Amino acid sequence: MSEEHPYLSIVIPLVNENDSLRPLSEELESVLTTLGRSYEIIFVDDGSTDASFATLQRLHASDPEHIRVIRFRRNFGKTAALSAAFKRARGEVVMTMDADLQDDPHEIPKLLAKLEEGYDMVAAWRERRQDPTSKTIPSRIANTVVTLVAGVKLHDVNCGFKAYRAEVVRELKLYGDLHRFIPILAVWQGFTIAEVPVAHRPRRFGHSKYGWHRFIRSFFDFLVVLFLTRYLRRPLQLFGTLGAISFFVGLVLGVYLAYLRLFGPGIGWRPALFADVMAIVVGVQLSAIGLLGEMGRNFSYRSEDEYSIRTEL
Ligand code: UDP
Ligand code: MG
Repeated sequence: MSEEHPYLSIVIPLVNENDSLRPLSEELESVLTTLGRSYEIIFVDDGSTDASFATLQRLHASDPEHIRVIRFRRNFGKTAALSAAFKRARGEVVMTMDADLQDDPHEIPKLLAKLEEGYDMVAAWRERRQDPTSKTIPSRIANTVVTLVAGVKLHDVNCGFKAYRAEVVRELKLYGDLHRFIPILAVWQGFTIAEVPVAHRPRRFGHSKYGWHRFIRSFFDFLVVLFLTRYLRRPLQLFGTLGAISFFVGLVLGVYLAYLRLFGPGIGWRPALFADVMAIVVGVQLSAIGLLGEMGRNFSYRSEDEYSIRTEL
């Protein structure tokens, strides 16, 4: 690298995208040259089994100034690939895009211009998404639910094409498949976000790396995100509240059953008795889980995790 800190780092995670890599890097080069700012491109080969890495080696050899390559030992997933590159990116601004040519490099200046308006991150919105309906329809439903529940106004949460100020990616803690929910995690951390509509292209080479099971995994990841953003720092507030509700239901039912037992026929055969026992046991369990959560929380406390600082003078 000629410069220690380029203006822009472009991060591209990929697995088995050999045919796309050369046209992608050519397109990128022409766009970035006209942009006239210093840049680096970081390809992360997430365990490809085709010739992707050999191609990346050649691209690096032909332009070692700009092209960096990270190769994983095996497929660790897109989230891991992004984290590895985020840790190494030197740019003031970090962009991510897919390697399959579906994200158009010519839209890069548009995202950067929006970021320059003062936002911490900018998400591309694939307004006319060029994917099969088996993917776009579930994705639209997921977007509606996620943005509604999380309270973040976006059309396309999971789009791989985004621009960030470097401090955003430095603060994100990504694991599992959490890359899908980066906007939610970032907004919760206090970062500002904007979106811009972009052109989207159909996949030219290779095939999608995700099947229908992405929707099941995403559902659980979304639960994780909701839990992390709301209750990570106060587990007892969630589990204690649920536990108290259950316990209270059990208590009221118990008083009623005790009254019946004292002044009426037996209650041993009543389903309500079992419900009552369950409610009380579940109530105690939930509260105990909350207390255990608080213990873990206390032991793992690190003060720098408790806030996100915008400016310090
Ligand atoms: N990808 C990756 N690791 C994986 C799966 C996918 O790095 O385990 C990359 C993939 O090569 C592509 C990007 O993530 O560059 C988006 O994947 P894909 O195009 O398959 O997803 P879709 O566009 O179908 O949502
Ligand atoms: Mg794709």
